[in-house]
Amino acid sequence: MRAEFEAKLSCCRDLPSPPGVALRILALARDPDVVMATAADTIGLDAALTARMLRIANSPLYASRRRVENLSQALTLLGLNATLTLALGFSLASGMRSRHQADAQCEEKVWRRSVIAALASRLLGERIGQRRLEELMLAGLLQDIGILGLLQLDRKTYAPLLTASPDNASLLRREREQFGCDHAEVGHWMARYWNLPPLLQDAIGASESKHVPSPFDACVAVSGFLADLWIEEDADAARLRAIEAAHSHLSLDVVAVDGVIEQVGKMLPEIATMFEVRITQPRRIAALLQEARELLVLRNLREIQDAARARKDADEFEHRARRLAEEARRDPLTGVYNRTQLESVLEKEFETSSRHGWPLSIAFVDLDDFKKINDGWGHLVGDQVLRSFASTLQQHLRGSDIVARYGGEEFLIVLPGTDERAALGVMRRILAEVGQAPMTRVDGRPLHVTFSAGLATHGALEQFTHVDQLLQAADEALYGAKREGRNRVVAGLVED
Ligand code: GH3
Ligand code: MG
Ligand code: MG
Repeated sequence: MRAEFEAKLSCCRDLPSPPGVALRILALARDPDVVMATAADTIGLDAALTARMLRIANSPLYASRRRVENLSQALTLLGLNATLTLALGFSLASGMRSRHQADAQCEEKVWRRSVIAALASRLLGERIGQRRLEELMLAGLLQDIGILGLLQLDRKTYAPLLTASPDNASLLRREREQFGCDHAEVGHWMARYWNLPPLLQDAIGASESKHVPSPFDACVAVSGFLADLWIEEDADAARLRAIEAAHSHLSLDVVAVDGVIEQVGKMLPEIATMFEVRITQPRRIAALLQEARELLVLRNLREIQDAARARKDADEFEHRARRLAEEARRDPLTGVYNRTQLESVLEKEFETSSRHGWPLSIAFVDLDDFKKINDGWGHLVGDQVLRSFASTLQQHLRGSDIVARYGGEEFLIVLPGTDERAALGVMRRILAEVGQAPMTRVDGRPLHVTFSAGLATHGALEQFTHVDQLLQAADEALYGAKREGRNRVVAGLVED
């Protein structure tokens, strides 16, 4: 600010000055020994101020369940500092109204913006977790006192300039051209001159800056942009500017800003009455918020769809991985377990059986004269026989039994919890079933096969120390079956 301008300011006798009650409150706020009773006495002297204090204590800003009936209750609810700050705001706002009729209209517009900004500043602070909400409200309210100062200082020049400016940005530009400083600088000077708390001085000074030093100052600076939604002709443009400012000063997103706009709209009628300004909500704001909500719904919908798609992809991936793992366990020709899988399953069954003393039977099964089928009908017919044979085995076994292809035309059947005699019964039943059911048809004629099986049981009659010994016993029994003429089941230890 230019020195001569500053000198002019300090000499101006008409400069708005805080009313008496505001000065007393300021003195109280500076006094570290002040107690609630003194504060109540000072505020109580002003009936209108007292009424406003009770009203604000009962307003939605302080969602208290108990109704506040008197000043001392309000003080208890709000705390000493908040009470003094709010009281200062009310007394400054009502005491500084101009005595000149000519200025009243200009001033009314300034106060209207200030009151909305006060509420917006507080709600922004709440959103970003600031603690000094009453101070934020007061700083929001006083950020434009520089305009009142300029109006008093040089009404003739400034009033037309104020009226002619369509928005705050052009007002600032004209002020700088005309006076070499803007209303934020003048306001800062006045706040210092009035001896307002430094926090308020700084916030007023930074209220029009592009770079604000603290989140507190940022809330105040952004609050002016939000207030413009109610003040300027073009609410859409004002909203965009508010969103931009909130993003750059406070890192708030569109949704948060629209949330604050909505809150301001809800609480404004009550706050406006307390500060004695008339504010009507432009219809465009409700429409804007509605549009924003619709956009948000669309965005959420898209996010939900994206999430659903991602989940589906993940499910499919998991399903594919499970299928691949399952495939790795199975023999590709017949679909029964392969030898690798058999070995791990058999080892587990052997261990469980040994631990609990349950019987475990296994049977080596080998197709008889299978080479002849290949030689006589070809490998494709041989393959079909192997597939049918494997599926016949599975059909005639329990779910807990295991069928695996051991290699070539040799299968291993694992029968957990089954003793020698029962296993022999099962294998003989299967032998009979296979003997009856053709494995495939060649030239319309049924093709039958037989098999030989060797049984061994880990159980009451014979205990093996290792699963390989059990396998070997079954293998030997199988050779016994082949030797004895095929198409039969041989169990090492069980006599018919
Ligand atoms: P035995 O009664 O003594 O068991 O006689 P065999 O002919 O069944 O036994 P051998 O071991 O001499 O012959 C088994 C044949 O099984 C030889 C092999 O070509 C055939 N084979 C092994 N794996 C497959 C397969 O995956 N598909 C087909 N089609 N044939 C196979
Ligand atoms: Mg064979
Ligand atoms: Mg063989």
